[in-house]
Amino acid sequence: MNWLLIGASNVAHEWIVPAIRAIGDEVISIVSGHLERAQDFAHRHDIANFSTDLNQALSHEEIDAVYISSTNSLHFEHAIAALKAKKHVMCEKPMALSITDAKEMIFQAEVNQVVLGVNYHLRNSAVIKKMRELIVSDAIGDVLTIRFCHAVSLPEKLQSWRINTPAEGGVVLDITVHDIDTLRFLLDDEPISVSAMAQTGLISPNNIPETVMGTIAFAKGTLVSFYDSFTAQYFQTSIDVIGTKGTLLARNTLTQHAVGELQLNNIHGAQTIDIKNENLYVSSLQKFKNATQNRGQPAATAYDGLRSLEVSLAIQQAIINKTNVLAVTGE
Ligand code: NDP
Repeated sequence: MNWLLIGASNVAHEWIVPAIRAIGDEVISIVSGHLERAQDFAHRHDIANFSTDLNQALSHEEIDAVYISSTNSLHFEHAIAALKAKKHVMCEKPMALSITDAKEMIFQAEVNQVVLGVNYHLRNSAVIKKMRELIVSDAIGDVLTIRFCHAVSLPEKLQSWRINTPAEGGVVLDITVHDIDTLRFLLDDEPISVSAMAQTGLISPNNIPETVMGTIAFAKGTLVSFYDSFTAQYFQTSIDVIGTKGTLLARNTLTQHAVGELQLNNIHGAQTIDIKNENLYVSSLQKFKNATQNRGQPAATAYDGLRSLEVSLAIQQAIINKTNVLAVTGE
């Protein structure tokens, strides 16, 4: 397939352009809000066309698919333009900033008969896929609780809008959205209520949540505690799953890199699970490409994107309300 990139972003530079080429596709065009950035990106990645005119770029028939990694507040506008131009769209998370906008994106994908996926790369992690498999195969019984720790130190080059722009920044829309999607994937279950509290002021000048702790209750009864942060130095991510018959302990797996370790503890003892890690973004794009060829669905569908957004917005509201439980409607 031929791809158009919307957004001269870091994630496109580091991960997506190489992943598109790894699945045998090509990036033929990039659109940015600034001509110089578009030109610079195109030159660095050997991309033939660059522009600031999105509609003109979308009018080229040879473009099959669009990858959107503009800042969060632009995802909706960019996706709607691409979907209306009948291009398949892989959109970065969060897919939009409101439920109404996310639903409109889903509607436009249906009307225009194109695939809309959301890039929740962690669904493609070999460790997380193995955890899901072990849960399904009853290796630890029913899942009672999960302790989900997605606390990192946000590098300076990634801080900009994440800590400066209240409408689109903050740890919830950046990291907690990933937790929710990963938990839905692991449990094959839906969140029904949340509570949360946040901390700010260490790196953000605008009181944007940079650390959040909270709980999520799932429909089948699992209770999750989560800790997400931009300011945790010298730390490691982890997922601890406690079941009625055992536990799964994942370490260092909530990352962009193909790494992570997994231990299973049950009546058979403690086992380190053999993991064959593979590039998460290559898997994500390959699944998306397959979906455009009527072979399955993207790793995370637009509906998955809608659900993780809805729960994230409920968590943000819980923080504003100075905590307490907010029901998630699930509509
Ligand atoms: P960046 O800050 O690198 O890029 C976002 C936008 O900022 C770009 O589209 C660009 O706008 C603008 N920009 C980039 N560099 C500069 C600069 N030097 N000066 C001014 N503006 C600049 O963001 P990320 O790559 O970190 O994130 C982009 C999107 O991808 C977000 O939605 C994020 O949530 C998501 N993301 C997803 C990941 C995943 O694993 N699924 C990982 C990382 C991010 P323009 O296009 O107009 O040039």
